[in-house]
Amino acid sequence: MFNMSDSDVASVVYDLDPACSVDDVQSGRPYLATVNGVVKYGVFVDLTESVSGLVHESALADSYEVGDDLVVELDERKANGDLAFVPAGIEPIGATLERVTPDYDVITTGQLETYLETTIQLEAEIAQVRQTGGPTIFQLLDGHGIVPAAAFESAGVRAYPEVDVGDVVRVIGSVERHEESLQLEIDELTVLESQEAAETQATIDDAVAERAAPNDVDPLVEWSALDEMWPELERVATLLRKSILEGRPVSVRHHADGDGMCASVPLQRALERFVADVSEDPEAPDHAIRRLPSKAPFYELEDATRDLTQALEDRARHGQKLPLVCMLDNGSTEEDVPSYETLEHYDVPIVVVDHHHPDPDAVAHLVEEHVNPYLHGEDYAVTTGMLCVELARMVDPEPQETTDELAHVPAVAGLCDRSDADAMADYIDLADESGYDEDDLRDVGEALDYTAHWLRYDDGRHLVDDVLNVGCDDPERHEELVDLLAERSREAIDTQLDAALPHVESEDLENGASLYRIDVENHAHRFTYPAPGKTTGAVHDHMVEEHGEPAISIGFGPDFAVLRSDGVRLDIPEMVSELTDDIVGGGVSGGGHLVVGSIKYVEGRREEVLDSLVEKMAAAEIDEDLGTTTTAIE
Ligand code: MN
Repeated sequence: MFNMSDSDVASVVYDLDPACSVDDVQSGRPYLATVNGVVKYGVFVDLTESVSGLVHESALADSYEVGDDLVVELDERKANGDLAFVPAGIEPIGATLERVTPDYDVITTGQLETYLETTIQLEAEIAQVRQTGGPTIFQLLDGHGIVPAAAFESAGVRAYPEVDVGDVVRVIGSVERHEESLQLEIDELTVLESQEAAETQATIDDAVAERAAPNDVDPLVEWSALDEMWPELERVATLLRKSILEGRPVSVRHHADGDGMCASVPLQRALERFVADVSEDPEAPDHAIRRLPSKAPFYELEDATRDLTQALEDRARHGQKLPLVCMLDNGSTEEDVPSYETLEHYDVPIVVVDHHHPDPDAVAHLVEEHVNPYLHGEDYAVTTGMLCVELARMVDPEPQETTDELAHVPAVAGLCDRSDADAMADYIDLADESGYDEDDLRDVGEALDYTAHWLRYDDGRHLVDDVLNVGCDDPERHEELVDLLAERSREAIDTQLDAALPHVESEDLENGASLYRIDVENHAHRFTYPAPGKTTGAVHDHMVEEHGEPAISIGFGPDFAVLRSDGVRLDIPEMVSELTDDIVGGGVSGGGHLVVGSIKYVEGRREEVLDSLVEKMAAAEIDEDLGTTTTAIE
């Protein structure tokens, strides 16, 4: 080595990172700057796009043009915030550049509270861009949470128009409290490119994956049927949590009956609570989670089209991502396929938790997860409500709290769908600990069914919460409401039976089963509660009580029939598929559970369809062990 004199050592010049602000500029340090304007009294220089100042003419020995580099030192920070610089006496060419990165703490959205009223730096993905009448609101996600960040260009004008949903960005801003919640006020927002963007994205993805992992809870009751579906439920819980962490709304579609309500209401509540935990935006739970009933136990095109239209509008108007669709107590069958294909066109992901007899091959390639007891050799007795209470416990940020609140729900679901599972006894014991005896639970189920009927296409949010006693803050109201609705439901069923029973036609089938037929179009009240399905069920129950099993009931209208049975080994999905082939021009479709279901056909072929149906029923095997069979309702 040899000695160098000082003059041989290249001078260090500081180069301010674009993320830096004026607070990063220190007196006595030489900074690289670029001339951006020449005026009579001096030159304006940029240290970065956002850090600029004036070098006064009196300090300048040379003349400069726009675009020239020069090295400056801070001379003065004026009261109004303007900066004055002087030349540092160092040539930029040959200087050793040292990058200055900003002095802000680099934090995650999980640490915002600690940094209140402090300028921080955050790297995140844009989850949503919404233009208000004032600022532009960017929702930032980083896997630890989601925070709204406001940037103001001028009232109603889009700030950073180049920034879009999905971009990975670096934001410098101050953490502010905005009406009880936290928000970032953006000083600077930079879209990250290539390598840097990829690294940040990977960090975000890791954080999302970590927080998306479901709660490690034990099943409410010991039951081998649940054990088998447990990993699938955990995967659904993961997808739901991930969706929320990524700022993707969840749209729940559930069968509009008691079990469907027992499935969807707890999950809706758990999801909303998770959203509130993840997002700093107080309105996020309302926007992120939607729950709507479906009249049929499958996803009708009318519903799917409405959901898609709404989602596309939310995207266009509020910069929102398209939702994850969560099908509960429906969604397992071939009849769902047209709707699924429509959604697939827009890459809308779908998960299904159901206990209707499935067509797994028809839907498998269209859904992310398909949880259904039939796929594990179990049956409808594992109701969707039982499964979704567990799902809610996996999703909720406070699993213990939600467990206590939901203890009675699986029993209600089981009674609604007449589950004959061994686990029912345990579920009823569990509900008993929360003060519900079996009659109470039946009343809740009856009240839910009754409410579901009158709600039609409405979610009836708060009313349903009160009926089911999930998130209801007034237990007395819950009790009185259930009494009222259950009573009214029973009265309505009695009224319907008074009209219908005298018209029931009975015959004995070859296999020994009794067949009961009722024309629900002409011999029952229409457009009221109970609807044809439940009316047929009530007629069936009445006849079985009077005359015993085995028994089959058909409630038919001009172009549909509802089927109920006890003690007969029917396979309604199979019968429907045979009828579809056998009766040319019959337009037969339908399905449901194995021993209960519904069939649609064209009116002109009604006689042939029903005759052929009865023929198949007469050939069905009788269940020898009559004592253990029960009928499920849809
Ligand atoms: Mn059900």
